[in-house]
Order: sequence, then structure tokens, then C-alpha cells
Amino acid sequence: MKTDFTELEAKVQAILDTPEYQDHPARQALSQLWDINQDQWERMERLTRLSDSYQDMMIQREKSLSERFDKHLRQLEKMTRISDRYQRSLRQLNIELEKTSLIDPLTELPNRRMMMKHLSQGYDCQQEDCSEHRKSLDHLSVAMIDIDYFKKVNDEFGHLVGDDVLVSLGKLMQSVVENSGVIGRWGGEEFLVILTCPQLDSATKLMETLRQKVEEFTLSFDDKIVTTSVSIGVAEHHKSDTMDSLLSRADGALYKAKSNGRNRVELG
Ligand code: GH3
Ligand code: MG
Ligand code: MG
Repeated sequence: MKTDFTELEAKVQAILDTPEYQDHPARQALSQLWDINQDQWERMERLTRLSDSYQDMMIQREKSLSERFDKHLRQLEKMTRISDRYQRSLRQLNIELEKTSLIDPLTELPNRRMMMKHLSQGYDCQQEDCSEHRKSLDHLSVAMIDIDYFKKVNDEFGHLVGDDVLVSLGKLMQSVVENSGVIGRWGGEEFLVILTCPQLDSATKLMETLRQKVEEFTLSFDDKIVTTSVSIGVAEHHKSDTMDSLLSRADGALYKAKSNGRNRVELG
């Protein structure tokens, strides 16, 4: 049976308050028990309050810790996002920087540095005995192209027209070379073609076509027409060649083309 403590308390209180029981021998013991009981209750209440406030404090502490943790997590996520974005733009900037350092800004063709890079691939591999690239050297030819009397174009029509001629000829020559190799601006009014045709014969033929196309090319502006021609020196890779010796043979052939009257292709 469940004891109703409120009812029991009321009963005891009533007995203790009854004047007839004041001198009863059990009243004193009951009164002492009552005081002890009250004391226990108060102690229990104090303990309960203490435990409640301790729990409240722990809940508050946990809440503030988790809030601080969330705040730090959000800050960390933000910092990671910023760092990711920064790294992405840095990578993009590096790609663009690498590109601009290898592309001629006027003609947008590969510059001398990039052409050297292309050529050196095969030659570096030759030293390292890399069969795949060494094979590509077997069919390698280079052609050094120089615009004839280009100074006259500048003198007669101005430097800006000279620039236009360089850009237009660059495009034209690239369209002739197409997939047979790579053409780049070697410097000033000189271009270099790296050809990977199977035979020297086809490399020379291609350069002859290129020479003819340039000869036929005209650039009109206002009521003036600019015509040009190119001299070309072709050299084929020999077994004993280094990159330098191949290039200097092409240079020699170009010199021959100039001395033999310009607007021609010579072999070195
Ligand atoms: P050659 O037939 O012997 O090659 O005669 P050339 O006049 O072409 O040769 P030269 O070396 O005397 O002159 C080259 C000219 O090319 C001089 C220079 O001002 C011009 N040139 C070089 N780079 C540029 C450029 O970026 N733009 C323009 N407009 N001219 C350039
Ligand atoms: Mg020159
Ligand atoms: Mg020239």
C-alpha cells in the first residue's frame, strides 16, 4: 500500500498540537521523530536544489562549449573555402603566366623559348636513351624562315603595318604547316618550323608551298598594297646532330637562300 505522506504529516501534526496529549510519554518521542524527519526533508531539498543547479550549470557549460565549437567550425570552414579559392586562382594565374611566357604576344605563336622546349625534348631524351622520343628525331627537320627586306616594309608603311604583316604571315604560315609540325616566332621577323615529316623531301616540298603562299599574299590598307617574300633554310636531323648543330645548319641554309637571291628554299 502506498503511504500518503501529506496525510501522515497532517495526522502527526494534529497529535502534536492536541493539548490533551502534551504530557503523554509518547508525545516527546514523536516530537523528536518529527524534528528529525523535518531535518531530513530540508537536507534532501537542499541536496535536490544543489543537484538541479549543478545540472543546470553543466547544461549551460555544454551549450556554450558546443556553441563555441560550432563557431570555430564555421570559421574553419570559411577559412578553408577562402584558401581553396585562393589556391585555385593561384593555379590559374600560374597556368596563364606559364602560357604568356611561352607565347609570342604579337603573333600569338609559340615563342623562341617554347620552340627550344619542343626541340630539346627529343635531344634530351637522346641523352637519356628514351627510345620513344629518339624515334621522333629520325624524322625531324627544321626550317628557319626570314622575311625578305622587312626593314623596307617598316620604312615604307610604318611599324604598325609591319606588325600587321607579321601577324598575318604568322597565321598564313601556320595554316600551311598545320599538322605537319609546329611553327613559332624565333625573333624579330624570323620564324622557325619544327617538322616531323617522314622524309626531308616532303619537308622541303611543304616549305616550297609555304614560300609560294607568302609570295602570293597581299595585305591591303588605305589604297596601298603590301607584298612580301620569305627565304627559308631547311635542315634534316643527322645521327651525330645536337640541337645546336641542327639549328646552325638551318641558319647556314637560310644564309645561302639570302645570298642566292632571296624568296627561295635551300637545304643545309
Ligand atoms: P633581309 O632580307 O636581309 O632579311 O632584310 P631585312 O630588312 O628583313 O633584315 P634586317 O635584319 O635588316 O631587318 C629586320 C627588320 O625587322 C628590322 C626590324 O625593325 C624589323 N622588326 C623586327 N621585329 C619587328 C616587330 O616586332 N615589328 C616590326 N614592325 N618590325 C620588326
Ligand atoms: Mg632577320
Ligand atoms: Mg629579313
